[in-house]
Amino acid sequence: MKIDYLRISVTDRCNLRCIYCNPLGGSEFLEHKEILRFEEICRIVRLFVGCGISKVRVTGGEPLVRRGVVDLVRRLAGIKGVEDLSLTTNGVLLGPMAGELKEAGLMRLNVSLDSLDRQNYAQITGADCLEKVMAGIRKAIEVGLSPVRINAIILKGVNEPDIAALARLSVAMPVTVRFIEYCPTGKHTRPAGDYVPEAQVREVIERQLAPLSSVMVGRSNGPACYYKIRNTPGIIGFISGRSSTFCRRCNRLRLTSDGKVRPCLYSAHSYDLKEMIRGGADDEEITVLLRKIIAEKSSYTKLNSFTEDFSMRCVGG
Ligand code: SAM
Repeated sequence: MKIDYLRISVTDRCNLRCIYCNPLGGSEFLEHKEILRFEEICRIVRLFVGCGISKVRVTGGEPLVRRGVVDLVRRLAGIKGVEDLSLTTNGVLLGPMAGELKEAGLMRLNVSLDSLDRQNYAQITGADCLEKVMAGIRKAIEVGLSPVRINAIILKGVNEPDIAALARLSVAMPVTVRFIEYCPTGKHTRPAGDYVPEAQVREVIERQLAPLSSVMVGRSNGPACYYKIRNTPGIIGFISGRSSTFCRRCNRLRLTSDGKVRPCLYSAHSYDLKEMIRGGADDEEITVLLRKIIAEKSSYTKLNSFTEDFSMRCVGG
C-alpha cells in the first residue's frame, strides 16, 4: 500500500462533547504554545509531499473552531503536490464557512452526523445543533464541495434506530453516508462492546431500504468499502476497524495537534516533529525521519493493540 495520506489535527478543542469522543472525561485542552503553528504545519506538509504524500485532510478537535483555518486551507492548497485537500467537521459552523473554504481551495468534506433525530443528536453531542449541521451540509453541496461525506458512528442502545434514516440521506442527496465502527479509546469512553458491527448495520439497511451493490470510488477506497442502492444519487460506505482488519489497506498517517506523527491510530507510538522543528532541525534531517516513518508504516500488516487511553480530538479521527 502506498502511504500517501496525511491527516492533520489542527486543534484539540471542540464545540461538541460527543459521548464516544471525550475519553479524558473532561475538557482539559493543550496550551496554545503546544499546538503547531500554521507555518509549522505547512512546513511539515511540504516535506511530507516530497516523500510521497499527496492527500491531506484537516481535522481535529473541531477544525472550524481554530482561528484562521480558512487561511490554513488556502496555504495548504497552495503547496505544490497536494492533489487532494479535504476537511472533517462536525458541521456546526459549516454553513457560513462553506463558501470561503471552497474558495480557499478545499475540495472535499466529511461531516460527522450520528442521528437525524433532534433529541438523539443532542443526547449524543451535548448540543441542540442538528438543524445547523443539516444547513451546513446543504450549503457544502450548493457551493460545490464534492463529494460531501457523512460519517456516522452507531452505538448499541443509543442510535441503532437512526441507521435507516441516515442511510436514506444517500437516497435523497448526492452524499456518501459512511458507517464507522466505534473504536474504544480509553476507560472513560463507551465500553468496547457498544460497537455495532458492519454486518448488523448492512442488514438493517438492506431490510428497510434496498439491496446494496459494491462500487469502487476513486483510485483506492483505502480502509472503506462502498456500496450503492440502484438509481440513487448517493453512496453508502463502511469503515470497519473492529469487525475486520484493514491494516494492509490503511494509507493514513496522522499529525497530532501537538506535532507528533502517529503511524497507526491503534498504537501510542509516535514521533515528535514539533520538538525537532523547534529544536532547529533542518529540512534534510526532518525528511530522513519522515521517510523512516513512511517505511515503518508500510510494513504494518496486523492490528496494533491499544496501549493507552487517547483522545480522538488530539490525534485527529
Ligand atoms: N470535530 C470533527 C468531527 O466531528 O468530524 C473532526 C474530529 S472527529 C475526532 C473526527 C471523526 O472521528 C468523527 O467522524 C468522529 O465520529 C470520529 N470518532 C471520534 N471518536 C471515535 C471513536 N471512539 N471511534 C470511532 N470514530 C470516532
